[in-house]
Amino acid sequence: MQVLKFGGTSMGDEHTWRNVLQIISGYKRPVVIVSATARTTRQLIAAAEEAVDDYDRAASIAQDIENRHRRLIKNFMANYPAGDTKSATATCEEWISSCIQNLLTHLQTISKEQELSPKLKDAVASVGEQLSSRLLVACGSVFGLPMIWVDAHNIIKTDSEFGSANPDYDRMQQSTKDVSSLIEDDHIPVMGGYYGQDADGATTTLGFEGSDYSASLLGSFLNAQSIEIWTDVSGIYTCDPRVVEEAFPIDKLSFREATEMAYFGAKVLHPATMLPAEQKGIPIVVKNIFEPEHPGTLIDKEAPSNGIAKAMTFLNEVAIITVTSPHTRKGFEFLADVFGALKEHHIPVNVVTTTEASVSVALKNEYVATSLLQKLEASGTVSQATEMGIISLIGCAFNDERLPGKKVLNILDDRQVRMISYSQPKRNLNIVIPEKDLLASVKKIHQEIFEPEN
Ligand code: ADP
Ligand code: MG
Repeated sequence: MQVLKFGGTSMGDEHTWRNVLQIISGYKRPVVIVSATARTTRQLIAAAEEAVDDYDRAASIAQDIENRHRRLIKNFMANYPAGDTKSATATCEEWISSCIQNLLTHLQTISKEQELSPKLKDAVASVGEQLSSRLLVACGSVFGLPMIWVDAHNIIKTDSEFGSANPDYDRMQQSTKDVSSLIEDDHIPVMGGYYGQDADGATTTLGFEGSDYSASLLGSFLNAQSIEIWTDVSGIYTCDPRVVEEAFPIDKLSFREATEMAYFGAKVLHPATMLPAEQKGIPIVVKNIFEPEHPGTLIDKEAPSNGIAKAMTFLNEVAIITVTSPHTRKGFEFLADVFGALKEHHIPVNVVTTTEASVSVALKNEYVATSLLQKLEASGTVSQATEMGIISLIGCAFNDERLPGKKVLNILDDRQVRMISYSQPKRNLNIVIPEKDLLASVKKIHQEIFEPEN
């Protein structure tokens, strides 16, 4: 049994829906997870935010979402004889009306409360997946596939951390059994990704790109043979193909390398995706709906090192915060205080360097808050540098005879390198440089390290 996940790019319009159904029809016992149609989640969140002080604008966004889905279904059904599509079309029409009604009710509540709570935001954000998953089932029936809709509320059980909820493994042990019985009865279960439900019955979401996480969670509970992430590029590339045109798909990555890539900014997989798969040893494959015969990228336990570096990612809008201790005694206490403040503020740090009496951390700008800086000032003098970027080389050998690390530093020779960290066992090289130099440096490094000389 395979879990197949189709992202927003695959759920774009009636043409890609047919690609998706065609791909699904090639599998014997698939389980399908889908994202919302392209742009929908972003629009839903915009509507929720607008509703706080302008309900009419929010409602007009809802109208736009409704129109787009109605058009998609109409265009899809137009390819089949009207007699075959009548009942599926009626199901879709009804479902769109009911989801949009539900959405408008939430928007009214937000408007009345003049405040957007994380709980309501999740309820609104999940509407896209609720729409797309059930509509795909109706289209699948016209296409001739025995699909059945599974509401993720009943399967993906989580805690109540709205916006980035964590799976509740105990409850999911039970809930995922229903999916297994559907497969045994020769159905193709189709579930919306990204959302789930907490113990009180409220809708939660798993965070940005959460559908990938839904797929790997379900795959791990069902002991799937593989988890396939279908998207619009043929695998995970050596670098973001939108920035580096010459980037190319990587054959194999380890779970660790793929996680590092996601954490350090590769916008292709949710960083938590690899964990459930790795625990059960289930391979993840990233493939392209527009080029299904391409093998894509295999993410598995072992992935041979290519001796140089596997991939490069980058992050922009980064700040460096440096805390310098007034005295050098008890360095351990100083470090504990600094990291205690970061913990208290729930701050993920990307790069760290220390000296005896100072510590520098690089983190996304959005986490730098006055309250954090005040807290850090209790430990020492705080200085800040903004408009930074991080380049990360994943699966990189620093001491190999080909010396990619050294090469990178040579390339950056005339740029201002602000921080460097390297971990030999993790084979990760992170370099913090001014943001203005980021993209040019990324391109140059890609050319030198990844592109074959010709
Ligand atoms: P989906 O809607 O299928 O989830 P995403 O937009 O989340 O698709 O991810 C696919 C996109 O990620 C690709 O179109 C590509 O432009 C972008 N991307 C960024 N970095 C990488 C990378 N290193 N490898 C592959 N794709 C990447
Ligand atoms: Mg995605």
